[in-house]
Amino acid sequence: MKILIATHNKHKLAEISRILEPMGYEVVTDRDVGIELTDVEENGKTFLENARIKAESGCRESGLPCIADDSGLCVDALGGEPGVYSARYAGNHGDDAANNEKLLLNLKNVPDEKRTARFVCSICVSFPDGSEITAEGVCEGKIGYEYRGNNGFGYDPLFMVGDKSFAEFTSEEKDAVSHRGNALKNLQQLMRN
Ligand code: IMP
Repeated sequence: MKILIATHNKHKLAEISRILEPMGYEVVTDRDVGIELTDVEENGKTFLENARIKAESGCRESGLPCIADDSGLCVDALGGEPGVYSARYAGNHGDDAANNEKLLLNLKNVPDEKRTARFVCSICVSFPDGSEITAEGVCEGKIGYEYRGNNGFGYDPLFMVGDKSFAEFTSEEKDAVSHRGNALKNLQQLMRN
């Protein structure tokens, strides 16, 4: 079955495809099916609201089941920030370098035991008949003091799981523990049912 993915983020596309394709889904982008999805405003207050906004819009515009995720980093010492603003924490959407600098600065005097954080991912699959399946996944970690590793994207070089940053994980290692990996595993279970 074809399933449209409502993202152009190639890292997310790869992570979601690696998990859905073995289940028999052909993951396609809007360009693959010859359309261009409207860039909807992600003005939800929660990750799930934002995922739903994107999935419903993609489904409506394509007539295909559409999967969308919304994810971000919640840092305890910052009252859950950057949260739904993760992609634009420093102002410009998707400026990972500036977002990471701001995060380090805001945690400058925060001691190790208070640097706890989690990545959260909500996924929504909207179907043409109006039904939906939603799933969530979390990955607990800590914010480090310096950039480590070259893999991944976003806050990966600062997000420590054990003694390694996400940017030091291979793709397979990241899938096994990541918020998106966990959300997709939960989704897989729900879609089987
Ligand atoms: P979204 O694309 O609206 O879901 O925004 C997600 C933002 O959260 C990204 O721009 C990243 O800054 C951050 N983020 C989400 N997932 C990850 C991840 O797996 N690694 C690093 N940063 C992530």
